[in-house]
Amino acid sequence: EQTNEAYRPVQIAEEVSETDRLWNISLQSKIDAALSKGEIYVVFQPQISLHDGSMVGAEALVRWDDPLRGSISPAYFIEQCEMAGRMEHLTRHVLMEAVAGFISLGTRTPEPALSVNLSATLLHDPNILNIVDEVLDETGFDPRRLVLEITETSKITDAATALALITQFKSRGIRISLDDFGIGSASLETFLQFPFDELKIDRLFISAMQQSSKAQAIVKKILAMGEEARITVIAEGIEDEQTLKILGSFGLHIAQGYAISYPLRIDDLLQFQGLSDSRARVL
Ligand code: C2E
Ligand code: MG
Ligand code: MG
Ligand code: MG
Repeated sequence: EQTNEAYRPVQIAEEVSETDRLWNISLQSKIDAALSKGEIYVVFQPQISLHDGSMVGAEALVRWDDPLRGSISPAYFIEQCEMAGRMEHLTRHVLMEAVAGFISLGTRTPEPALSVNLSATLLHDPNILNIVDEVLDETGFDPRRLVLEITETSKITDAATALALITQFKSRGIRISLDDFGIGSASLETFLQFPFDELKIDRLFISAMQQSSKAQAIVKKILAMGEEARITVIAEGIEDEQTLKILGSFGLHIAQGYAISYPLRIDDLLQFQGLSDSRARVL
């Protein structure tokens, strides 16, 4: 019981101190300004099929290049964004930019899937459904090409609301992915609780594979579990050819990581897609 306490979601206090209030206001306007100035933008990391090397999708990852502070990691500002009450706003922005980027890739068969990260806290917020619907309506993007990666699932405190929202997304054909699977307080419980279409094995296990037969055993079991539950399994954070080879021999279908490609600007993603397609045709 006591260890679980550490994983409790951080509650935004009802009564915020004056300092916090001012900080949050300035943070809000900083985020809004950065969004409108284009300092916050999206890059795309390719996901390839290990079957033929073709690009089956890409994950949209947000970046913030501040003129004074340089590149700010999403690991830091996503949390700030949440504290400043700007998650909805940021998510709409990321979704719109990512979808527009994907539409600009043109058509190609099969059409690559677009994965967008969704903070689990937004699964308490029914308005997120309107935001996703609006972006899909405005752009005409096929919902069956959209994957929502749920991150920080330990922050889901209202499972009923989260489940209702996930069900709504799925009824539109949107797929739901469980990000960073294996770390956090309740991965298996979360996996059991919600109807995920995809599991993303956390980088922690992938980067340990070369050194650790334990890590390999865990990855193998996750793959077997995915197969039995008829769920797509993706490995992320693959940094070297050796690990990619081992994962291939374990029967992994979809791979993502620096060994394949760094996150790319949309123009470079188009080029990557072309190159991987011509390689796939040769194979
Ligand atoms: P994530 O969704 O698990 O994304 C994977 C992270 O691993 C990304 O970091 C990516 O750049 C990095 N990565 C990919 N391949 C490799 C590799 O081979 N080696 C190593 N060392 N790292 C690799 P990034 O872009 O800094 O994002 C960090 C986290 O921030 C993401 O983790 C996600 O939880 C969150 N995030 C990013 N974009 C968004 C967003 O638009 N919305 C929300 N809510 N969260 C986001
Ligand atoms: Mg992700
Ligand atoms: Mg992840
Ligand atoms: Mg992560």
